[in-house]
Amino acid sequence: MKHKKIAIIGAGFAGAVITNRFLQAGYQVTIFEKSRGTGGRLSSCRIGKDSADLGAPWFEPATDQFKQWLKARTDVNRWLAPHSDFSGLVLDPKAVYLSTPRQNSLTQNLIKGAMLCTESKITDIYKDSKGLSLLREAEEIKYFYDAVIVTTPAPQAIPLLILSPNLHTVASSTKTTPNWVAVISLKEKSGVKPDIFSGPHSTLYRAVRDTAKPGRNSWSRKEVWMLEATSEWSDRHRNSDPNSVGRALIKAFEKVIKQPIKTSNTRVHRWLYARHQSVTQEPYLWDPDSKIGVCSDWLHHQDCEGAWLSANALADHLLSRTKASNLYNLQKSSLVPSRV
Ligand SMILES: Cc1cc2nc3c(=O)[nH]c(=O)nc-3n(C[C@H](O)[C@H](O)[C@H](O)COP(=O)(O)OP(=O)(O)OC[C@H]3O[C@@H](n4cnc5c(N)ncnc54)[C@H](O)[C@@H]3O)c2cc1C
Repeated sequence: MKHKKIAIIGAGFAGAVITNRFLQAGYQVTIFEKSRGTGGRLSSCRIGKDSADLGAPWFEPATDQFKQWLKARTDVNRWLAPHSDFSGLVLDPKAVYLSTPRQNSLTQNLIKGAMLCTESKITDIYKDSKGLSLLREAEEIKYFYDAVIVTTPAPQAIPLLILSPNLHTVASSTKTTPNWVAVISLKEKSGVKPDIFSGPHSTLYRAVRDTAKPGRNSWSRKEVWMLEATSEWSDRHRNSDPNSVGRALIKAFEKVIKQPIKTSNTRVHRWLYARHQSVTQEPYLWDPDSKIGVCSDWLHHQDCEGAWLSANALADHLLSRTKASNLYNLQKSSLVPSRV
Protein backbone atom coordinates (compact mmCIF):
# COMPACT_ATOMS: atom_id res chain seq x y z
CA MET A 1 0.00 0.00 0.00
CA LYS A 2 1.30 3.43 -0.91
CA HIS A 3 0.91 5.59 2.18
CA LYS A 4 -0.15 9.17 1.64
CA LYS A 5 1.16 11.76 4.00
CA ILE A 6 -1.00 14.05 6.12
CA ALA A 7 0.18 16.73 8.55
CA ILE A 8 -2.14 17.64 11.41
CA ILE A 9 -1.49 20.90 13.27
CA GLY A 10 -2.68 20.65 16.88
CA ALA A 11 -3.08 17.56 19.11
CA GLY A 12 -6.33 18.57 20.84
CA PHE A 13 -9.51 16.51 20.57
CA ALA A 14 -10.28 17.44 16.95
CA GLY A 15 -6.67 16.74 15.89
CA ALA A 16 -6.67 13.39 17.70
CA VAL A 17 -10.05 12.31 16.26
CA ILE A 18 -9.15 13.12 12.66
CA THR A 19 -5.71 11.55 13.09
CA ASN A 20 -7.40 8.36 14.23
CA ARG A 21 -9.68 8.37 11.17
CA PHE A 22 -6.74 8.80 8.79
CA LEU A 23 -4.71 6.11 10.58
CA GLN A 24 -7.61 3.68 10.29
CA ALA A 25 -7.76 4.40 6.58
CA GLY A 26 -4.05 3.56 6.24
CA TYR A 27 -2.53 7.02 5.89
CA GLN A 28 0.76 8.21 7.31
CA VAL A 29 0.03 10.97 9.81
CA THR A 30 2.38 13.42 11.51
CA ILE A 31 0.98 15.69 14.25
CA PHE A 32 2.65 18.95 15.21
CA GLU A 33 1.74 20.24 18.65
CA LYS A 34 3.12 23.42 20.17
CA SER A 35 2.76 22.24 23.78
CA ARG A 36 4.65 19.49 25.58
CA GLY A 37 1.75 17.05 25.41
CA THR A 38 -1.55 16.27 23.75
CA GLY A 39 -5.06 17.33 24.80
CA GLY A 40 -5.23 21.07 24.08
CA ARG A 41 -8.29 22.33 25.96
CA LEU A 42 -8.67 18.79 27.36
CA SER A 43 -5.28 19.03 29.08
CA SER A 44 -4.42 17.98 32.60
CA CYS A 45 -1.95 19.68 34.94
CA ARG A 46 0.28 18.75 37.87
CA ILE A 47 -0.99 19.91 41.24
CA GLY A 48 1.50 18.90 43.92
CA LYS A 49 1.93 15.13 43.57
CA ASP A 50 -1.41 14.76 41.76
CA SER A 51 -2.70 15.59 38.33
CA ALA A 52 -6.04 17.19 37.58
CA ASP A 53 -8.07 18.23 34.57
CA LEU A 54 -7.38 21.84 33.66
CA GLY A 55 -9.74 22.17 30.68
CA ALA A 56 -13.02 20.45 29.79
CA PRO A 57 -13.87 18.37 32.88
CA TRP A 58 -16.21 16.02 31.01
CA PHE A 59 -18.20 15.20 27.87
CA GLU A 60 -21.93 15.70 27.83
CA PRO A 61 -23.14 14.17 24.56
CA ALA A 62 -26.19 15.68 22.87
CA THR A 63 -26.09 13.50 19.76
CA ASP A 64 -26.57 9.77 19.68
CA GLN A 65 -23.45 9.29 17.52
CA PHE A 66 -21.15 10.90 20.04
CA LYS A 67 -22.82 9.11 22.96
CA GLN A 68 -22.46 5.70 21.29
CA TRP A 69 -18.83 6.44 20.40
CA LEU A 70 -18.06 7.36 24.03
CA LYS A 71 -19.90 4.32 25.38
CA ALA A 72 -17.97 1.97 23.11
CA ARG A 73 -14.57 3.16 24.39
CA THR A 74 -12.84 1.32 27.21
CA ASP A 75 -10.92 4.48 28.22
CA VAL A 76 -14.14 6.44 28.87
CA ASN A 77 -16.22 6.14 32.07
CA ARG A 78 -19.63 7.44 33.06
CA TRP A 79 -19.85 9.68 36.11
CA LEU A 80 -23.07 10.21 38.02
CA ALA A 81 -22.08 13.12 40.24
CA PRO A 82 -23.93 14.66 43.21
CA HIS A 83 -24.80 18.18 42.07
CA SER A 84 -25.98 21.43 43.70
CA ASP A 85 -26.46 24.95 42.52
CA PHE A 86 -24.31 27.68 44.05
CA SER A 87 -26.99 28.50 46.61
CA GLY A 88 -26.81 24.93 47.94
CA LEU A 89 -30.05 23.69 46.34
CA VAL A 90 -29.62 19.98 45.61
CA LEU A 91 -30.13 19.18 41.92
CA ASP A 92 -30.45 15.84 40.12
CA PRO A 93 -27.10 14.03 39.90
CA LYS A 94 -25.21 15.03 36.76
CA ALA A 95 -24.62 12.21 34.28
CA VAL A 96 -21.50 12.83 32.18
CA TYR A 97 -18.66 10.90 30.53
CA LEU A 98 -14.95 11.32 31.03
CA SER A 99 -11.72 9.77 29.93
CA THR A 100 -9.58 7.83 32.42
CA PRO A 101 -7.16 8.20 34.09
CA ARG A 102 -7.15 11.82 32.80
CA GLN A 103 -9.10 13.75 30.19
CA ASN A 104 -6.08 13.93 27.87
CA SER A 105 -5.63 10.11 27.95
CA LEU A 106 -8.25 9.90 25.21
CA THR A 107 -6.18 12.06 22.84
CA GLN A 108 -3.04 10.01 23.64
CA ASN A 109 -4.86 6.77 22.84
CA LEU A 110 -6.47 8.05 19.64
CA ILE A 111 -3.19 9.07 18.03
CA LYS A 112 -1.31 5.82 18.68
CA GLY A 113 0.36 4.96 15.35
CA ALA A 114 0.93 8.57 14.27
CA MET A 115 4.18 10.47 14.59
CA LEU A 116 3.78 13.15 17.26
CA CYS A 117 6.12 16.17 17.27
CA THR A 118 5.61 18.09 20.51
CA GLU A 119 6.97 21.58 21.31
CA SER A 120 6.54 22.18 17.59
CA LYS A 121 4.76 25.46 16.97
CA ILE A 122 3.94 25.72 13.28
CA THR A 123 4.18 29.28 12.02
CA ASP A 124 3.52 28.88 8.31
CA ILE A 125 2.27 26.45 5.68
CA TYR A 126 3.93 26.84 2.28
CA LYS A 127 3.62 25.16 -1.06
CA ASP A 128 6.09 24.37 -3.83
CA SER A 129 6.26 21.89 -6.72
CA LYS A 130 6.90 18.98 -4.31
CA GLY A 131 3.79 19.61 -2.21
CA LEU A 132 2.86 21.27 1.06
CA SER A 133 5.38 21.86 3.80
CA LEU A 134 5.59 23.62 7.15
CA LEU A 135 7.70 26.13 9.02
CA ARG A 136 8.31 25.29 12.67
CA GLU A 137 9.25 28.69 14.16
CA ALA A 138 12.04 29.70 11.74
CA GLU A 139 12.97 26.12 10.83
CA GLU A 140 11.82 24.54 7.56
CA ILE A 141 10.48 21.02 7.96
CA LYS A 142 12.08 19.36 4.99
CA TYR A 143 9.20 17.03 4.37
CA PHE A 144 6.24 17.31 2.02
CA TYR A 145 2.61 16.45 2.68
CA ASP A 146 -0.37 15.67 0.44
CA ALA A 147 -2.70 17.60 2.75
CA VAL A 148 -2.44 19.70 5.91
CA ILE A 149 -5.26 19.84 8.48
CA VAL A 150 -5.34 22.75 10.92
CA THR A 151 -7.12 22.02 14.23
CA THR A 152 -6.04 25.00 16.36
CA PRO A 153 -8.36 27.62 17.90
CA ALA A 154 -9.44 30.23 15.31
CA PRO A 155 -6.97 33.03 16.26
CA GLN A 156 -4.07 30.56 16.08
CA ALA A 157 -5.30 29.30 12.70
CA ILE A 158 -5.24 32.75 11.07
CA PRO A 159 -1.47 32.87 10.28
CA LEU A 160 -1.62 29.27 9.01
CA LEU A 161 -4.31 29.95 6.41
CA ILE A 162 -2.59 32.57 4.25
CA LEU A 163 -2.55 30.15 1.28
CA SER A 164 -6.33 29.94 1.39
CA PRO A 165 -8.03 33.35 1.57
CA ASN A 166 -11.55 31.90 2.09
CA LEU A 167 -10.48 29.84 5.07
CA HIS A 168 -8.46 32.77 6.39
CA THR A 169 -11.57 35.00 6.30
CA VAL A 170 -13.65 32.52 8.31
CA ALA A 171 -10.95 32.15 10.98
CA SER A 172 -10.42 35.94 11.17
CA SER A 173 -14.15 36.59 11.67
CA THR A 174 -14.55 34.11 14.53
CA LYS A 175 -14.89 35.71 17.97
CA THR A 176 -13.29 34.10 21.02
CA THR A 177 -13.62 34.56 24.77
CA PRO A 178 -11.15 33.59 27.50
CA ASN A 179 -11.75 31.43 30.57
CA TRP A 180 -9.91 31.59 33.88
CA VAL A 181 -9.57 28.36 35.84
CA ALA A 182 -8.05 27.68 39.28
CA VAL A 183 -7.18 24.14 40.32
CA ILE A 184 -6.72 23.87 44.08
CA SER A 185 -5.70 21.04 46.36
CA LEU A 186 -7.03 21.36 49.91
CA LYS A 187 -4.95 20.87 53.04
CA GLU A 188 -7.93 19.25 54.75
CA LYS A 189 -10.98 17.46 53.44
CA SER A 190 -13.89 19.86 53.02
CA GLY A 191 -16.70 17.46 53.93
CA VAL A 192 -18.78 19.11 51.19
CA LYS A 193 -21.45 16.73 49.78
CA PRO A 194 -21.88 17.73 46.11
CA ASP A 195 -19.06 16.97 43.66
CA ILE A 196 -20.34 19.63 41.26
CA PHE A 197 -21.67 23.16 41.84
CA SER A 198 -23.09 25.15 38.94
CA GLY A 199 -25.82 27.65 38.11
CA PRO A 200 -26.22 31.42 38.28
CA HIS A 201 -23.26 33.14 39.98
CA SER A 202 -21.45 36.45 39.46
CA THR A 203 -17.96 34.89 39.31
CA LEU A 204 -18.08 31.10 39.15
CA TYR A 205 -19.39 29.08 36.25
CA ARG A 206 -18.67 25.74 37.87
CA ALA A 207 -16.79 24.04 40.71
CA VAL A 208 -15.88 20.38 40.18
CA ARG A 209 -14.27 18.00 42.68
CA ASP A 210 -11.68 16.41 40.37
CA THR A 211 -10.71 13.73 42.89
CA ALA A 212 -14.29 12.41 42.95
CA LYS A 213 -14.17 11.49 39.27
CA PRO A 214 -14.06 7.74 38.54
CA GLY A 215 -10.66 6.35 37.63
CA ARG A 216 -8.65 9.24 39.11
CA ASN A 217 -5.77 8.41 41.45
CA SER A 218 -4.84 10.94 44.08
CA TRP A 219 -1.34 9.94 45.18
CA SER A 220 -1.38 12.47 47.99
CA ARG A 221 -4.99 11.63 48.94
CA LYS A 222 -5.74 15.34 48.90
CA GLU A 223 -9.06 16.77 47.73
CA VAL A 224 -8.68 18.66 44.44
CA TRP A 225 -11.24 21.11 43.00
CA MET A 226 -11.38 22.85 39.65
CA LEU A 227 -12.95 26.32 39.93
CA GLU A 228 -14.02 27.77 36.60
CA ALA A 229 -14.94 31.43 36.18
CA THR A 230 -17.80 32.53 33.95
CA SER A 231 -16.95 33.75 30.44
CA GLU A 232 -18.15 37.28 31.34
CA TRP A 233 -16.01 37.48 34.49
CA SER A 234 -13.03 35.99 32.62
CA ASP A 235 -13.41 38.54 29.84
CA ARG A 236 -13.57 41.42 32.34
CA HIS A 237 -10.43 40.08 34.07
CA ARG A 238 -8.72 39.05 30.85
CA ASN A 239 -5.47 40.84 31.74
CA SER A 240 -5.53 40.42 35.51
CA ASP A 241 -2.68 38.91 37.45
CA PRO A 242 -3.15 35.11 37.93
CA ASN A 243 -2.55 35.35 41.70
CA SER A 244 -5.36 37.84 42.18
CA VAL A 245 -7.64 35.78 39.93
CA GLY A 246 -6.86 32.67 42.01
CA ARG A 247 -7.67 34.55 45.22
CA ALA A 248 -10.97 35.84 43.80
CA LEU A 249 -12.09 32.36 42.67
CA ILE A 250 -11.16 30.78 46.00
CA LYS A 251 -12.97 33.55 47.90
CA ALA A 252 -16.09 33.02 45.81
CA PHE A 253 -15.91 29.27 46.45
CA GLU A 254 -15.45 29.79 50.21
CA LYS A 255 -18.74 31.70 50.22
CA VAL A 256 -20.48 28.89 48.33
CA ILE A 257 -19.32 26.13 50.69
CA LYS A 258 -19.58 28.44 53.75
CA GLN A 259 -16.17 27.58 55.14
CA PRO A 260 -12.61 28.91 54.81
CA ILE A 261 -10.23 27.04 52.52
CA LYS A 262 -6.56 26.28 53.15
CA THR A 263 -4.81 25.19 49.98
CA SER A 264 -1.62 23.18 49.74
CA ASN A 265 -1.27 23.91 46.00
CA THR A 266 -2.97 26.25 43.56
CA ARG A 267 -2.63 26.36 39.80
CA VAL A 268 -4.26 29.27 37.93
CA HIS A 269 -4.58 29.16 34.17
CA ARG A 270 -6.06 31.51 31.60
CA TRP A 271 -7.43 29.76 28.53
CA LEU A 272 -7.12 32.71 26.19
CA TYR A 273 -9.05 31.04 23.36
CA ALA A 274 -11.50 29.04 25.46
CA ARG A 275 -14.82 29.50 23.66
CA HIS A 276 -15.67 30.58 20.12
CA GLN A 277 -18.68 31.95 18.30
CA SER A 278 -18.91 30.18 14.98
CA VAL A 279 -19.52 32.41 11.95
CA THR A 280 -20.24 29.65 9.44
CA GLN A 281 -22.84 26.94 8.98
CA GLU A 282 -20.08 24.65 7.70
CA PRO A 283 -18.91 21.95 10.12
CA TYR A 284 -15.40 22.00 8.63
CA LEU A 285 -13.39 23.87 5.99
CA TRP A 286 -11.64 22.30 3.03
CA ASP A 287 -9.85 24.11 0.23
CA PRO A 288 -9.21 21.68 -2.65
CA ASP A 289 -6.77 24.04 -4.34
CA SER A 290 -4.37 24.48 -1.47
CA LYS A 291 -5.27 21.05 0.07
CA ILE A 292 -5.61 22.64 3.45
CA GLY A 293 -8.49 21.68 5.74
CA VAL A 294 -9.70 22.95 9.10
CA CYS A 295 -11.66 21.16 11.82
CA SER A 296 -12.19 22.24 15.41
CA ASP A 297 -14.95 23.11 17.87
CA TRP A 298 -15.22 26.66 16.45
CA LEU A 299 -16.71 25.24 13.24
CA HIS A 300 -19.41 23.32 15.06
CA HIS A 301 -20.55 24.09 18.59
CA GLN A 302 -18.14 25.18 21.21
CA ASP A 303 -17.48 21.96 23.08
CA CYS A 304 -15.78 18.59 22.72
CA GLU A 305 -18.74 17.20 20.85
CA GLY A 306 -18.42 20.06 18.37
CA ALA A 307 -14.73 19.23 17.88
CA TRP A 308 -15.60 15.54 17.40
CA LEU A 309 -18.37 16.26 14.89
CA SER A 310 -16.20 18.72 12.97
CA ALA A 311 -13.28 16.26 12.75
CA ASN A 312 -15.53 13.41 11.66
CA ALA A 313 -17.33 15.55 9.08
CA LEU A 314 -14.00 16.53 7.47
CA ALA A 315 -12.74 12.92 7.63
CA ASP A 316 -16.01 11.66 6.05
CA HIS A 317 -15.72 14.28 3.33
CA LEU A 318 -12.12 13.44 2.46
CA LEU A 319 -12.23 9.67 3.00
CA SER A 320 -15.53 9.05 1.23
CA ARG A 321 -13.93 10.41 -1.90
CA THR A 322 -10.80 8.28 -1.53
CA LYS A 323 -9.99 4.63 -1.23
CA ALA A 324 -8.17 3.79 1.99
CA SER A 325 -5.07 2.95 -0.03
CA ASN A 326 -5.17 5.94 -2.33
CA LEU A 327 -5.52 9.64 -1.71
CA TYR A 328 -6.27 10.25 -5.37
CA ASN A 329 -9.22 12.52 -4.83
CA LEU A 330 -7.41 14.65 -2.28
CA GLN A 331 -4.98 15.40 -5.10
CA LYS A 332 -7.68 15.82 -7.74
CA SER A 333 -9.02 19.17 -6.70
CA SER A 334 -11.87 19.17 -9.19
CA LEU A 335 -13.57 16.22 -7.46
CA VAL A 336 -13.71 17.89 -4.06
CA PRO A 337 -15.97 20.94 -3.87
CA SER A 338 -14.85 23.84 -1.74
CA ARG A 339 -16.94 24.19 1.43
CA VAL A 340 -16.52 27.95 1.81
C1 LIG B 1 -12.16 25.81 30.97
C2 LIG B 1 -12.85 25.05 29.89
C3 LIG B 1 -13.94 24.25 30.20
C4 LIG B 1 -14.58 23.51 29.20
N1 LIG B 1 -15.61 22.68 29.53
C5 LIG B 1 -16.14 21.85 28.62
C6 LIG B 1 -17.09 20.85 28.98
O1 LIG B 1 -17.52 20.74 30.12
N2 LIG B 1 -17.52 19.99 28.01
C7 LIG B 1 -17.08 20.08 26.72
O2 LIG B 1 -17.48 19.25 25.89
N3 LIG B 1 -16.21 21.04 26.33
C8 LIG B 1 -15.72 21.91 27.25
N4 LIG B 1 -14.79 22.86 26.88
C9 LIG B 1 -14.48 23.04 25.47
C10 LIG B 1 -13.54 21.93 24.95
O3 LIG B 1 -12.40 21.86 25.78
C11 LIG B 1 -13.13 22.26 23.52
O4 LIG B 1 -14.32 22.43 22.76
C12 LIG B 1 -12.31 21.16 22.85
O5 LIG B 1 -11.33 20.65 23.71
C13 LIG B 1 -11.70 21.78 21.60
O6 LIG B 1 -10.85 20.83 20.96
P1 LIG B 1 -10.06 21.27 19.65
O7 LIG B 1 -9.23 20.10 19.26
O8 LIG B 1 -11.01 21.81 18.65
O9 LIG B 1 -9.13 22.50 20.08
P2 LIG B 1 -7.92 22.55 21.16
O10 LIG B 1 -8.20 21.64 22.31
O11 LIG B 1 -7.70 23.99 21.47
O12 LIG B 1 -6.69 21.96 20.38
C14 LIG B 1 -5.86 22.74 19.54
C15 LIG B 1 -4.41 22.34 19.73
O13 LIG B 1 -3.62 23.07 18.78
C16 LIG B 1 -2.40 23.43 19.41
N5 LIG B 1 -1.83 24.56 18.64
C17 LIG B 1 -2.29 25.83 18.57
N6 LIG B 1 -1.54 26.56 17.72
C18 LIG B 1 -0.58 25.73 17.24
C19 LIG B 1 0.48 25.89 16.32
N7 LIG B 1 0.72 27.05 15.69
N8 LIG B 1 1.28 24.82 16.05
C20 LIG B 1 1.07 23.61 16.67
N9 LIG B 1 0.06 23.41 17.56
C21 LIG B 1 -0.76 24.44 17.83
C22 LIG B 1 -2.82 23.79 20.83
O14 LIG B 1 -1.71 23.75 21.73
C23 LIG B 1 -3.85 22.69 21.12
O15 LIG B 1 -3.27 21.53 21.69
C24 LIG B 1 -14.13 23.61 27.85
C25 LIG B 1 -13.04 24.44 27.54
C26 LIG B 1 -12.41 25.16 28.54
C27 LIG B 1 -11.22 26.01 28.19
